[in-house]
Amino acid sequence: MANKVLIVGGVAGGASAAARLRRNDENAEIVIFERGEYISFANCGLPYYIGNVIEDRESLLVETPEDLNKRFNIDVRVNNEVLSIDKENKEVKVINHKTGETYKESYNKLILSPGSSPLKPPIPGIDAPNIFTIWNIPDTDAIKNYVDTKNIKKATVVGGGFIGLEMAENLKELGLEVSIVELEEQVMASIDYEMAQILHKNITTNGVDLRLNDGVKEFKHNNGETEITLNNGDKLEADIVILSIGVRPNSQLAEESGLELNKKGGIVVNDNMKTSDNDIYAVGDAVEVEDFVYGGKIMVPLAGPANKQGRIAANNIAGIEDTYKGTQGTSVAKVFDFTVSSTGVNEKTLKKLGKKYNEDYLIAYAHNNNHAGYYPGSSKINMKLIFRKKDGKILGVQAIGIDGVEKRVDVIATAMRYNGTVYDLSDLELAYAPPYGSAKDPVNMLGFLGENILQGKMDIIQWFEIDSLDEDKYTIVDVREEEERDLGFVANSINISVDDLRENIDMLDKNKTIVLYCATGIRAYVATRILLQKGFKKVKNLSGGYTTYSDAEFDINSVPLIGNDTELEKNKEPVDNIDLESIEKTTLNCSGLQCPGPIMKVYEKIKNMDNGEYLEVKASDPGFFADIASWCQRTGNTLMKTEKINKEFVVILKKGVEADNTDNTKMKNIMEKTDKSMVVFSGDLDKALASFIIANGAAAMGRKVTMFFTFWGLNILRKDEQVPVKKNLIEKMFGLMMPRGVNKLKLSKMNMGGMGSIMMKKIMKEKNVDSLESLIKQAQNNGVRMVACTMSMDLMGIKEEELIEGIDYAGVATFLSAAEKSDASLFI
Ligand code: FAD
Repeated sequence: MANKVLIVGGVAGGASAAARLRRNDENAEIVIFERGEYISFANCGLPYYIGNVIEDRESLLVETPEDLNKRFNIDVRVNNEVLSIDKENKEVKVINHKTGETYKESYNKLILSPGSSPLKPPIPGIDAPNIFTIWNIPDTDAIKNYVDTKNIKKATVVGGGFIGLEMAENLKELGLEVSIVELEEQVMASIDYEMAQILHKNITTNGVDLRLNDGVKEFKHNNGETEITLNNGDKLEADIVILSIGVRPNSQLAEESGLELNKKGGIVVNDNMKTSDNDIYAVGDAVEVEDFVYGGKIMVPLAGPANKQGRIAANNIAGIEDTYKGTQGTSVAKVFDFTVSSTGVNEKTLKKLGKKYNEDYLIAYAHNNNHAGYYPGSSKINMKLIFRKKDGKILGVQAIGIDGVEKRVDVIATAMRYNGTVYDLSDLELAYAPPYGSAKDPVNMLGFLGENILQGKMDIIQWFEIDSLDEDKYTIVDVREEEERDLGFVANSINISVDDLRENIDMLDKNKTIVLYCATGIRAYVATRILLQKGFKKVKNLSGGYTTYSDAEFDINSVPLIGNDTELEKNKEPVDNIDLESIEKTTLNCSGLQCPGPIMKVYEKIKNMDNGEYLEVKASDPGFFADIASWCQRTGNTLMKTEKINKEFVVILKKGVEADNTDNTKMKNIMEKTDKSMVVFSGDLDKALASFIIANGAAAMGRKVTMFFTFWGLNILRKDEQVPVKKNLIEKMFGLMMPRGVNKLKLSKMNMGGMGSIMMKKIMKEKNVDSLESLIKQAQNNGVRMVACTMSMDLMGIKEEELIEGIDYAGVATFLSAAEKSDASLFI
């Protein structure tokens, strides 16, 4: 007798199971019940049909019931919903929605592939006619029809998962103003926060109003428009709302028939995809599966696993033993200019599992080109690799970039299937020619990095650790070129380019841990090797360099929106009434260059322009837009216009600040380095006076001044009165021998047992020259930064309590960092 197999659900898992079963068993009787009108449609393509990227609706219908019947002899019953399962009698009850008729159908084996449904929480007003979810063809038709027939201008997408982001992009493509509201601190839950920040930057630069850490409190529908009140009280107006906040498994049928479910409602299956009933199999979004990486049970609503599970269920039913080995969640999505892809476990999940960084797992960040840099059109792939500390086993990878992203993730996903380690990634021989890759592919590079970390060739520090380093124990060295620092830098870092490191090695204190960073980690690795071989024992490299650090620190409010001048308008008080299109401007084409290439070119160009002149820059690097905005802020230039034309970012800058009548001090300071820095080494009265007179003069000219007080210079900062502090004998002796405060300082020459000082103060008074005390106060009021050298304080036993208020305490790195922004550094 023919094996009679009924299948509930005719899309990913169901259709795949049916076709496989037929290929295995020509005699089986196969029936698919699909409650909707369509089977085997391309749910993954639905957002792109709404955005008109997929123009032909028919192309979404991968197979029709007729096709399946003709080729596979499958009885496909659309508009037929299975209402219940009678396990004892092995039959299902079905309703035909077209005729209203109900009937029973018996089975030998039953496959459930009922999928999942989008969540619709009970938020007040959620049933308004312009609030949609997107899951199937009718949903898509309804959205498309609404967009095409109503006069829609504003859309809000609630939920920043991959479907929400795809919808946001497609609605933006249609020319709508789009907002995304996401309850969590990040979009795209499958990746970690610092990686998601790359998406946040790109989403906002593409003109989307991204609201993170916020949810919807209420919808109010009024005349075709919905007012959305967010939890923080903000209100958004939307002509259409797309809800995309997650899914729940369609497991009621399984539950009602007494099949075993997990706490989340997922159908429990064994590795043959068999449920708790011997004759019922279940696959797809509705089942729980084994986490391939860490064991344990998970639910992963993705098409790839659903299709594979359908095939495995069919094999087992046909008598071919087959097992499902777990899901690792390999996924990919297009988010505006970027492709984002990941596989395996992310760090958030590891933390939830109680795993600890540097004990259980390690991380490596890399930013390598997708193909040879000299071949046109290369772009960076930002990657995060997570691997086990004890043996280097790969636990997961996340990648974001323009091209070649999913290829790398797929390679690593494959390696993971075979329990691959970072060493395996180094060994992989991957296809290479300049248009496609590099002789050392980004996958190999991640392997090398992981190996170096595991074998201790390179000690790394992560972006989340660097800000809390104790300056007394660490020196942070930025080994990028000087100009790159205009893009921003790690606080308290000094700049010695990797090429200058050998000559300046003596500036670094071997007793401290040296933390090196560059743009991505590669130059810093070279610098690490130099220092280690020159006898430095404690050297760390910032993983992923300034790129990872600044991505993680990115503030979504800092970027003006493309094609939307609102942010610019906020910043520009006195706007020239000019037509930016026709105005005379220098042009600069940076397309094809990647960060920091375009910024370096802008820097070179603008240096030779006159104040008030305009520069139009074109770039293809999606990071350029955010970079140029922060670069302008730092350098005091003005971002006048931003636009995205096809795939190019076009900006117009004006050299200097917007209004011609404003003072250009900030711009000059940064572009021409006009800060002043001073080492005040001497505690002599005349030298102290001279230093404060110069400092106040420079501050009055709008210069930023840093005074670094070290050794005897610290005495200038001492309070007059004795402060009760704990000191050892030598410290006490030092304290007694040194002058306490400005009134005890002596002249360097002609002091004559203190007479010289007294005479000097008298003459100063007569000639109306301010006293040292008042010069110090003026300096503080003028914003002069006074820094007491902590190392000298330690040596001389001077305690913080003994020094005047309003000063900073820091090491030599702080002085060096100030000095590199200065055109004059004085040693007094
Ligand atoms: P489905 O494919 O959803 O099929 C379930 C079917 O069962 C439904 O048609 C339903 O009507 C029917 N059904 C349910 N109950 C009954 C019943 N009692 N009787 C009869 N019929 C019933 N995944 C990716 O991997 N990549 C992507 O890019 C991607 N993009 C997506 C984009 C969108 C807009 C959507 C909605 C999903 C996307 N997915 C993507 C997810 C992927 O489509 C699902 O994971 C996959 O389709 C699940 O397969 P399934 O067979 O479990 O369920």
